[in-house]
Amino acid sequence: MTTEQPHFNRVALIGVGLIGGSLARVIRSQKLADHVTAYSRRAKTRNRIKELGFVDVVADDAATAVADADLVVVSVPVSASASVAEAIGPHLAPGTIVTDTGSVKQAVIDAMSPHLPSQVHFVPGHPIAGTEHTGPDAGFDQLFEGRWCVLTPPEGTDATAISIVANMWRSAGSMVEQMSAPHHDMVLAITSHIPHLLAFNIVGTVAELEDQIKLEVVKYSAGGFRDFTRIAASDPEMWRDIFIENKEAVLEMLGRFSEDLAALQRAIRWDDADALETKFTKTRDIRRDIIDAKQA
Ligand code: NAP
Repeated sequence: MTTEQPHFNRVALIGVGLIGGSLARVIRSQKLADHVTAYSRRAKTRNRIKELGFVDVVADDAATAVADADLVVVSVPVSASASVAEAIGPHLAPGTIVTDTGSVKQAVIDAMSPHLPSQVHFVPGHPIAGTEHTGPDAGFDQLFEGRWCVLTPPEGTDATAISIVANMWRSAGSMVEQMSAPHHDMVLAITSHIPHLLAFNIVGTVAELEDQIKLEVVKYSAGGFRDFTRIAASDPEMWRDIFIENKEAVLEMLGRFSEDLAALQRAIRWDDADALETKFTKTRDIRRDIIDAKQA
């Protein structure tokens, strides 16, 4: 793959929240396009995008937004991918590159592909970068810097289109990796989806406690709980979609996690200090690896 900075005549952004809004700012700051059109579902969001002023035109519908675009980036909740593809499909010019940013890949491919004309190049992608905030105000142009972006093009996807999308993400400061959609979904199940599920569960458990204990949990939250609350404050709609759309991989990884948790439970019950220390030493090494890889 080359690392040349791409240049587009017209980019259409369908969905302009944290991810689409961040990419819009990158496209502007890196001068990746002559013209950027945005479309978002609600009039309120569209008005806010106009006020923020980081795109040239805000369209009133998705079909108008994609007309004559050479790149279309879809950044909507995974469950909305099919309806968006259905709306834009008939209006895409031959040769247009369509990419997305969904956190689950196989489900997005299954949902979008049937609606995209065969002369359109679909390069599914997932920038592994985010915050717990949503909406166009939450975006910023450094969001993707130093983060990985995974592309999962189905076999036979046009190599030039893949390279152009990869270079767009490199221009945003990302490192790019290519893998199959099922592999992506399995890797992300353990690195992202299960950690979020645990955070939702721990914070959910606290939410059920009696009021007095709850007050103390908040007071002493720096003991570890606080870090989980940041993750558990992530967008409910997006995470609902992720667990439903990546069900198989999540259940597979959750099964392994439950077995390991049972082993820890047993070690505590039987005062198996060696087993606990061995486990915690291993996990500390993983933290060091993440710091070394500059992903901390
Ligand atoms: P966001 O800030 O909530 O923005 C979502 C965008 O999608 C908005 O433009 C919203 O439009 C639109 N939208 C919401 N529901 C829709 C529907 N049913 N039909 C059509 N459009 C709809 O979300 P985001 O964080 O940018 O996430 C966008 C995508 O990126 C998701 O697929 C997510 O899985 C993925 N992603 C997220 C992160 C993260 O950490 N947030 C990281 C990597 C990838 P209105 O505001 O007009 O309703």
